Amino acid sequence: MSYEIIIGLEIHVQLQTKTKIFCGCSTVFNPDHPNVQTCPVCLGLPGALPVLNEHAYYLGVKTALGLGCQIAPYTKWDRKQYFYPDLPKGYQISQFDLPFSHHGHVDVVTRDSETDGNKQPTVRRVRILRAHLEEDAGKNMHDESGRGRDSKVDLNRAGTPLVEIVTEPDLRSADEARRFLEELRLMLTYLEVSDCNMQEGSLRCDANVNLHVTQPDGTKVPTPIVEIKNLNSFRFTEQAIEYEVARQWEAFQQTGIRMGAKGGHKRTVGFDPNRGTTYPLREKEEAADYRYFPDPDLVPVMTTVEKVDSIRAEMCELPANRRQRIIDEFQLSPYDAAVIIDQGRAVADYFEEIAKSCRDGKQAANWLTQDVQAAMKERAETISTFPIRPNVLSALLDRINKKQITIKSAREVFAALLEDADGGAVLSVDRIDELVKSRGLAIVQDTGAIETAIAEVLSRNAKAIADFKSGNEKAIGALIGQVMKSVKGADPQTVREKLLAKLAE
Ligand SMILES: [Zn+2]
Repeated sequence: MSYEIIIGLEIHVQLQTKTKIFCGCSTVFNPDHPNVQTCPVCLGLPGALPVLNEHAYYLGVKTALGLGCQIAPYTKWDRKQYFYPDLPKGYQISQFDLPFSHHGHVDVVTRDSETDGNKQPTVRRVRILRAHLEEDAGKNMHDESGRGRDSKVDLNRAGTPLVEIVTEPDLRSADEARRFLEELRLMLTYLEVSDCNMQEGSLRCDANVNLHVTQPDGTKVPTPIVEIKNLNSFRFTEQAIEYEVARQWEAFQQTGIRMGAKGGHKRTVGFDPNRGTTYPLREKEEAADYRYFPDPDLVPVMTTVEKVDSIRAEMCELPANRRQRIIDEFQLSPYDAAVIIDQGRAVADYFEEIAKSCRDGKQAANWLTQDVQAAMKERAETISTFPIRPNVLSALLDRINKKQITIKSAREVFAALLEDADGGAVLSVDRIDELVKSRGLAIVQDTGAIETAIAEVLSRNAKAIADFKSGNEKAIGALIGQVMKSVKGADPQTVREKLLAKLAE
């Protein structure tokens, strides 16, 4: 028997609004001061009326367009019955049968070219069933000391706008699920709709997992679906799915229980990262238990094709499109393109500025992914605070391309520029030329000076010449070194060629 892994995800994304979705309270993450960002609306006091925050809808539409979704011309709000103290109204305002957007897709690179930079990556298309808007709940805090029975609730988060994104069960491994989430997070940060801070709970994921087992007679049997709730890191998501797959396979081999059979109902579990295992949670409610009905306090939202198009026009290029474009435009490998784009918009912008200006994409990519990144790491800086701005770096690369300095000398200038910056200097292109001059790094184009130096060096190195002519090719290294010492800044390649020509005479 063999099996196929079937995974669908539900992702909750907090939208980056200043205020909550149905009231004017702040959405700032503020765990040290519970219950200060509340008002009668989000406290659920009688008579308080919600009003939609238009910016939340706007960010929701942007998110949905990024997912390639269609935007519904008419959408409404529904109450989902909910019995926990972190939503004091007793219900959550959500969207049931008419979500504001539906039917999109995200393409995920499932096997990339880490080992072969030029191979085209493999892509999985993950369909998006729907994306809807809703309010977040507050946070219950239970006393875990074992002494008291003290549970508290912080309602600062209650009413924060969320987009819930529901995928079709199109993912086929834990690794694919992680890559999908990484691509989604990248897209959301490019669009600036969410900060996607997982530690603060801005992005949470539920995973529905089961197996399609192919039996010896060729028929396929699905195992019962398990929903893993509230995964708050990509690594935990991957680990939890891997654990669930192994557990379900073992259970199926022992019991043969299939989805829908007796004992084969859908289950809800949590993930314990310390043990690396899942554990049962409350039984999954069916939609009927939620007793959805339209919220009479909120008017439906209607939109037009023109409005949606105007939001679309404000969107930046999506990471997937930008990866492909920089491959085509700057002849990068898919691997290099991914390394640059996956670090966010600011790094991608920095790259494009140097690549366009020095007209050498490969060179720009090498410097960005090696020298700049290493320096940034050492200096604990981000690309936006890095003192060598794109115009200065591209001027440096331009001097390499024009054979005015060697790559080795460029690295020396690069390090000197950073020292300058530490001394408080604002770096300019002129400073590059000053450093090249004061350190004698310019490649000497004067072939006369090189030839004179060669003649002089050869005249006092009879032994090295004899060694070289008797087959010891290493002897030429010492000769090149002496010429270079005499003509500081000579291009070693030119010296070598001229020296070999002279020796062949
Ligand atoms: Zn409020």
